[in-house]
This record gives sequence, C-alpha cells and structure tokens, in this order.
Amino acid sequence: MQFPSRRKRLINNAQEEMYGQPIQFYGQPPIENISLSEFETFAVERLKLLKTIENLGVSYVKQSEHYARKLESEFKNLHFPYREVDDRKVQTGPSEFEKRRKDHISHFILRLAYCQTEDLRRWFIQQEVDLFRFRFNELGSKQKLEFLHRNNLQYDTINVEEKKTLLDKLVSSSYAVSGITVEEQDFYKVPFQDALDLVRTRKVYLKAGYVYIPHQDIITIVINDFRTRLSKALALTARSLPIVHSDERLQPLLNHLSHAYVGQDYSIQKNVGKISLEQIDSLSGKSFPLCMKQLHQSLRENHHLRHGGRMQYGLFLKGIGLSLEQALQFWRSEFIRGKVDADKFDKQYAYSIRHMFGKEGRRADYTPYSCMKVILSNMPSQGDYHGCPFRHSDPELLKQKLQVYKVSPSGINQILELVKGMHYQLACQKYFELTHNVEDANFSLNHPNQYFVESQRLLSGGVREPKREPETPHKTKAPSAAVEVPEVIEDLDSFFQDA
Ligand code: SF4
Repeated sequence: MQFPSRRKRLINNAQEEMYGQPIQFYGQPPIENISLSEFETFAVERLKLLKTIENLGVSYVKQSEHYARKLESEFKNLHFPYREVDDRKVQTGPSEFEKRRKDHISHFILRLAYCQTEDLRRWFIQQEVDLFRFRFNELGSKQKLEFLHRNNLQYDTINVEEKKTLLDKLVSSSYAVSGITVEEQDFYKVPFQDALDLVRTRKVYLKAGYVYIPHQDIITIVINDFRTRLSKALALTARSLPIVHSDERLQPLLNHLSHAYVGQDYSIQKNVGKISLEQIDSLSGKSFPLCMKQLHQSLRENHHLRHGGRMQYGLFLKGIGLSLEQALQFWRSEFIRGKVDADKFDKQYAYSIRHMFGKEGRRADYTPYSCMKVILSNMPSQGDYHGCPFRHSDPELLKQKLQVYKVSPSGINQILELVKGMHYQLACQKYFELTHNVEDANFSLNHPNQYFVESQRLLSGGVREPKREPETPHKTKAPSAAVEVPEVIEDLDSFFQDA
C-alpha cells in the first residue's frame, strides 16, 4: 500500500529531477493525476505548437532569425518552455515549472494520439525533432553539457589548451571550421563508436579511440538519438492502444486529437440561405479547394457520388450555407439525371441528407470535415472521389489536374515539392496563393471551409484580417452524458508502462 503523502513526495522528487531543464528526452512518463480538461487543453496547445513548427519549417530556413522569432512568439503565447530562464526575474503567466510540466505531459498525450498509424507517427516525429533541435540550440554551452550528462551521453568539451594543441588537426579534419572558429566554438570528445557516420565520411579528427566533434555536428548525434528513442517509444506506446481504446473517456479525445483541427467551428451555419443553387458552379471554379472541386465535378459528370464523397461534399456545402431544403433539391436534381429515379432518391438518399443536418437518427448536427480528417481517414479507393488530392492523388495525376487549373509550371513544381515532403495542407495553401494571385495567403489552412471563406473574402475585396488565432480550442464533444465518468485521469503512466 502506498501512503498518499509518500506518493506525493515521490512525485515531487521525480518532477524536480525531470524538470531541471527546459528540454528533455521524455524518458519517463508522467506519474501524476490530471483532470480531463487539463488533459485536453495541454494536448490541443502542443498540437498548435507542432503545427506552427511544421508551417514555419516550410516557409523559413530552419534556425534562421525569422524562424526563431516566430517560433519564440508561439512558445510565449502557448506557455511552453524553450530556454533557460533566470528564476530571479519576475515573470508573468505560468511559472517555469508549470510550463515544463505542461511540456512533459502534453508530449506523452500526443504520443498516445499519434502512435496509431505510420503516417501519424512520421508526422509527429518530424515536428518533435524540429522542436527539440530548436530548444537544444537555445541552451548555453554549460546547459548543453549538463543535458548530455543527465541523459547518459558522457561527452565532454575539450579545454582551451587542448584546442590549441590540436588546432591544425581540427581545422583540416572538420568541415566548415577555420582557425578563428575553432577558438569560438565547442568541440566534444566522443567515443568513436558513437559517431560512426562522421568517422565513415571522414568529417572529424580521430585520435586514440575518440573523435573531436564541433558543436554543429554534435547536435546531429543528439538529434539522431532523440529520433531513435522517440520512434521506439511510439512503437511501444502503440501496444497499449487496446487499453486506451477501452477507456471511454480517452478514446474520443485521442481520436479527435489525431484528426485534430484547432480552428473555427464550421458546424455553426452562419450563411444559411445566402447561397443559391445556381451559384454553386461558379463558386466551385473560384473558391472551392481542390478536394471539393473534384467532388463537384464528378457529381456533375456522373450524377452520383459514393457515400464517402456525399459525406465530405455534403457537409462542406452545409458549412458554406446550404439549407436542408436546398441540399435536398441539389442532390435530388443531380441524382435523377443519372441512374436513380425520384422515388429511389426519396427512399434511399434523402434520409441520409436529413441525417447530415441532424434531422434523423440520433439527431447529431454533423460538422464539416477538417483537412486532417480528410487526409487521414477513409482512404479513397477505385471509383471514389473523396479525400485530399494533395494526399491521395498520384503525383502525375495531381500535376495534370493542376495544369487543367492553369497553375504555372514553376507553381506546380513548388506544390509537388511540398507534397513530396508530406506537407499536404501547405501544398493546398500554395495552390490558394497561386490561384488567387497573392504572395502570402496570410492564414494557416486547416479546413476546406476555411479555404472557401478566405477565398470569398479576398475575391470580394474584403479587408484581409490578420492571421486568426482561435481564442478557445474547438473542444471535443464530451463523452456520453448517460455514462458517469470521473473527471480525473489517474495514473497517466499506466498507458506508457511499456514505453
Ligand atoms: S488540404 Fe484540405 S482543403 Fe486542401 S484539398 Fe486537402 S483536404 Fe481539401
């Protein structure tokens, strides 16, 4: 039996140990109890941070001044730690300890959400690695050494005398190091077996079983280590998924997070009735994102869409302002031009349209799909037109589509490069910029309906608002009210016991 005060003391000691620096390898899972609302807020905020990292990584040179400035401001807004602070300075907002605690817990929550598929794991690792790299670079020399030693990377920097003695060797064996820079930068003495890549490519000076690595290369070793640990940890976390999925409080939260969309809620219909059915063709040409354009075109050509397409497109149209009556008329008039007669439409399809608007079944008011949901769920197969063309189309086919929409060859290359790097939403944002003739879209694309709204705003000559930051995260629907669920998640570490 564990006494509460003893457990509390154990937690405090463990936290002090873990939160000694603004950066960690996340080797130990959190061991405290947290509330469901804290669980969700932490996770949503880390997701926002990781999405910013993804966006900045494509728009700016990583570690450039612009990149650093923008990222620093996001760290401040979201209250995440990023550099050593002087405790004696008066701070506003959460304490440094609170920030580090949030960093730790939120990382582990997203591990649960992002270990589920190969795509999710790859995305998560890439953003976490970039986050780690930025923070590691922000540490001073002393803290870097401390960090390495804390994590059993027993590398030491060489002192000034040793540097002077080895000066010629270091300059001739290390890439981008000159006589002047040797004096200014740290060199680490590392057992050669920990730096085989550098030895193999003859990039470092090797002596008596040790290599002498300049600072810019030590970071490569540390990051490789971080990436390997995280990748193994995600594979282990995936093993605990059956336990997670059996927890009715966590499953909807985690599913929501992995398809997360952290912007405006487009289920609230603001423009009902403001769009006429006659306008849809022209709106589709001007303001629909590629995914919806593709669905609209296929519907007009084939007078039919399969279930996945009807859901994706139907909810989008609902989000841009079609009323239930208009939606019924729209789908009916198109379907009866094909193989479905009016009677069959009323019996078979009208129900699902009313369902979409919350008028049938359990009367849930369905939300238009976010980009993450379109990209990550329900992969289209032969004969399907739903999905995201940037994610699901063959690059050659995507190229042809872009040519049809008169995107310039250089624009197509830029888009295909982004697609190659798996930055699908950024590729779509680039498509927006090119087809609207603007240099900077000035928003971060998360949702097909957001694309539509921004396009309409631009085309109507509306004043471009500064980048919108949602004030409160779009909350996940609460678990069923019929089931009484405790509001506190106990023993968060139980999900990570294998990790
Ligand atoms: S990125 Fe989003 S809006 Fe663009 S095509 Fe894909 S799903 Fe549609």
